[in-house]
Amino acid sequence: MYDYLVVGAGLYGAVFAYEAKKAGKKCLVIDKRDHIAGNIYCKEIEGIQVHQYGAHIFHTSNKEVWEYVNQFAEFNHYINSPVAVYKDETYNLPFNMNTFNKMWGVRTPAEAQAKIAEQRAEYHIENPQNLEEQALMLVGKDVYQKLIKGYTEKQWGRDCKDLPAFIIKRLPCRFIYDNNYFNDRYQGIPIGGYTKIVEKMLDGIEVRLDTDYFEFIKENPDIADKTLFTGMIDQFYDFCYGPLQYRSVRFETEVLDCENYQGNAVVNYTEREVPYTRIIEHKHFEFGKQPKTVISREYSSEWKPGAEPYYPVNNDENNALYEKYKALADQETKVIFGGRLGDYKYYDMDKVIEAALRTVQKELQ
Ligand code: UDP
Repeated sequence: MYDYLVVGAGLYGAVFAYEAKKAGKKCLVIDKRDHIAGNIYCKEIEGIQVHQYGAHIFHTSNKEVWEYVNQFAEFNHYINSPVAVYKDETYNLPFNMNTFNKMWGVRTPAEAQAKIAEQRAEYHIENPQNLEEQALMLVGKDVYQKLIKGYTEKQWGRDCKDLPAFIIKRLPCRFIYDNNYFNDRYQGIPIGGYTKIVEKMLDGIEVRLDTDYFEFIKENPDIADKTLFTGMIDQFYDFCYGPLQYRSVRFETEVLDCENYQGNAVVNYTEREVPYTRIIEHKHFEFGKQPKTVISREYSSEWKPGAEPYYPVNNDENNALYEKYKALADQETKVIFGGRLGDYKYYDMDKVIEAALRTVQKELQ
């Protein structure tokens, strides 16, 4: 009946379906939620686009991807510059001269580098083996202890020694006074929200919401020639090798009767004792002037069945377990996997688009 059954109406599934349709293929997109757009879904509250499943800031250095996504939305000039609160101190992120100046009173790059070198020398780390060693090497112990350790351990629920170094390499460390969180050439927030992007991608494609794949496929085993599955790969195989680990996030969203609550879209709470990791004030992503504001506190937890999986925990054990599932996936002739959950990778949105385009192009060859 269909060429493709696309499981998951998130960004990966939508790009795939859009391209497949353009090539004349008939797709059915299903999603177990009651809305499209997966975790980039935005809901308008008080005239503000609220990122229901966590803040999403589009950034990329890939011009093709930037042009691709600009077909579906116009982007504003938002530049992510989070602020970190540690006890009664406030710092700029990512780690840059503003951070170092506030931390140590240093003014020049040479002074900051000397300070970090002095702190680094205490540890004799040559080849960082985990996130803690990587962080100490990069910024020294003061920044590590105040801005990284507590935040990371809350976010991942694991000791920094048990986490892979690559997680912290996502963040720039620079010796200029520049609070731009990303190094990428292009950045912004889609005007009107992310849901509209996915709506446009899925325009003219049949979508069924509130539809759980595992039940649906029992009743409709021959619905499509092929399936693109963007859900959890371990669940697809009924956890036969055991479950992969994910982190989940709980959002406590509040409408406040004030115009401007925290003066910034993202404020991270980096001490362990504050139970949430960050507070998002959504209106600042779009320079909103509404009389009210909407904030979300983010609480991180280990994923358990029934919760939403957000972040794959890409440590050695999980990556090895994923490889076993991947070996099963590689034998499939009628099922393809993709996205953060299908590929078990900590993808950003631009990487999701890149991967989806690569998959669909290979598929349509
Ligand atoms: N991180 C940190 N302190 C911060 C912000 C980030 O230590 O104030 C570390 C933490 O380990 C986190 C990683 O950097 O998991 C990546 O942060 P990013 O903001 O990229 O996470 P995301 O936005 O994907 O949740």
